[in-house]
Amino acid sequence: MAVGRFCGSEPALVRVAPEPWGTPVQDPRIAVMLGFLAAAGACVGSFLNVVAYRLPRQCMSVSRPRSRCPKCTSAIAWYDNLPIVSWLMLRGRCRTCRDVISARYPAVELTTAALFVALAWLLPMRDAAFIRPTEHLGEWATYLAAALITSALVALTLIDWDWQILPDQITIGGMILGPLLLLVAPSLQPATGWLHDLRMGGEPLIDAVGVRGMVALHGVAGEVLAGGSLWMIGVLGAKAFGREAMGFGDVKMIAAMGGILGTWALLALGLAAVVGAIVGIAMKSARRGRYVPFGPFLALGMWAVMLRGEPLLDAWIGLYQW
Ligand SMILES: [Zn+2]
Repeated sequence: MAVGRFCGSEPALVRVAPEPWGTPVQDPRIAVMLGFLAAAGACVGSFLNVVAYRLPRQCMSVSRPRSRCPKCTSAIAWYDNLPIVSWLMLRGRCRTCRDVISARYPAVELTTAALFVALAWLLPMRDAAFIRPTEHLGEWATYLAAALITSALVALTLIDWDWQILPDQITIGGMILGPLLLLVAPSLQPATGWLHDLRMGGEPLIDAVGVRGMVALHGVAGEVLAGGSLWMIGVLGAKAFGREAMGFGDVKMIAAMGGILGTWALLALGLAAVVGAIVGIAMKSARRGRYVPFGPFLALGMWAVMLRGEPLLDAWIGLYQW
């Protein structure tokens, strides 16, 4: 039986424990491909900076006009707009007006580059996929889907942090796209053994819809269940405390997460709540009176469960038994 999460034509419902790379640096082609993924990540990060700046300002399109300095509005030439490099060359200042350019821009580009490389390790991409990419298109499709989701999570994190909103373009877009992505990359969803037991008219449902169809249906069910649960919590919380306890943006985001994770979205929600509470208490005791949005923690929970849902669930259950 084939090992790894990418079993060719037979995507495993039960994802096998991922193997790390064997010897990543011994073949130069792997290093070259990783460098390419890092560069692609930096460019995507640059685009995410634009998205985070323009999407909440609804009068602006993310593609036009070209980048301008927000202070002096002079157009930024391509050579001053290279990810990370240009910010370093300009020492963090606009070429025209010398106004400070926030270090957050290169930080986002660097973070996205690191996430794109980390994805290759965490999925994992196997050596063979780097050496002969054209023979491993299934793995690359999974990588691209995971990179797209990761990018959306970075954008949601930045926008929620700045504006305390989660734009519909990303959350509702994700609800529509999520189950469709699963048809291409079913191993983005953690292994769910009980899907094998579901029956329709006496026959196993999986025989009728196939493994990919089953995983995608689980995604749709996850949207309803996860979105519905958080919506209920929000409604009850508003009744109990007499004020808005949670934004509807959070509900749409958790629904979109369910579209990929299925019922595993509830684990992501649990992790987000725990980490969010710890960070919230820490920031309160540090007397930083800033409102901490929930979206960044949901993003973290989504990423963790998408890549390591099974061991995280074991750890979560282990905590209760302890
Ligand atoms: Zn300027």
